[in-house]
Amino acid sequence: MKTQTLVRYENVKKTFGEVTVLNDLNLEVKRGEKVALIGPSGSGKTTIIRMLMTLERPTEGIIEIDGEMLWHKEVNGKLVSANEKHLRAMRGKVGMVFQQYNLFPHMTIMKNCTTAPIHVLGIRKEEAEARALEMLEKVGLSDKVDMYPAQLSGGQQQRVAIARSLVMQPQVLLFDEVTAALDPELVGEVLEVIRDIAAEGNTTMMLVTHEMDFAADVADQVLFLDNGQIAEQGPPEKVIHAPKTERLQAFLSRFH
Ligand code: ADP
Repeated sequence: MKTQTLVRYENVKKTFGEVTVLNDLNLEVKRGEKVALIGPSGSGKTTIIRMLMTLERPTEGIIEIDGEMLWHKEVNGKLVSANEKHLRAMRGKVGMVFQQYNLFPHMTIMKNCTTAPIHVLGIRKEEAEARALEMLEKVGLSDKVDMYPAQLSGGQQQRVAIARSLVMQPQVLLFDEVTAALDPELVGEVLEVIRDIAAEGNTTMMLVTHEMDFAADVADQVLFLDNGQIAEQGPPEKVIHAPKTERLQAFLSRFH
């Protein structure tokens, strides 16, 4: 039976050397839920989603996706290395879109979107291309399949990166400040694409963003990260429109 909770962090601590970036993080993300992570630079937002992508590993605590422990198991309070096969399977549940879109420059747009499904998921080329076309249509770029990344604007490249993630049919899609590297006039088209995908409802999303209006529109739950903790948490009507703490009020006032 499918549980309602898709992603769970329990007592997660993350340190880099002497620096504690996250201190006792507890978080549950439900299936289909959209969670926005906001907060000052360096507050650990990206680390939270990078751990889910297995790009970082927690120093302590448990992270689960779909009821399965990401790092496999804990013995006497210590995390035991997961084997590669398990990690690969878990990684397959997660898709991530980065600030720098990371498209392969020497591959066409179509090939960028089909390489991983063919080589990682092992699906047939025809099916991968059909899926890719469907997703490129979703982001409004199905006429660019034969072009190369350099022939596209930054906003278009980021929309391809989003389509490419969707082709993998992840259970949870992570967005790491995906508009931060774009020229201001290109931000809107990328946010619009994410809004559309969010509006379809079934994709679970975690979004690190500095776009407060967008976060307020898209998110069911907003987390304000500060000093290694979730300092405020709740629906956007509360966290973004009626912040309780002075820290969050001060943070939000910078966006007006
Ligand atoms: P945010 O996304 O909120 O800006 P990050 O999660 O990127 O914050 O980073 C939180 C803190 O952890 C920062 O102080 C950053 O310098 C530090 N940090 C992140 N990744 C590493 C790393 N690989 N090695 C050392 N320090 C890191």
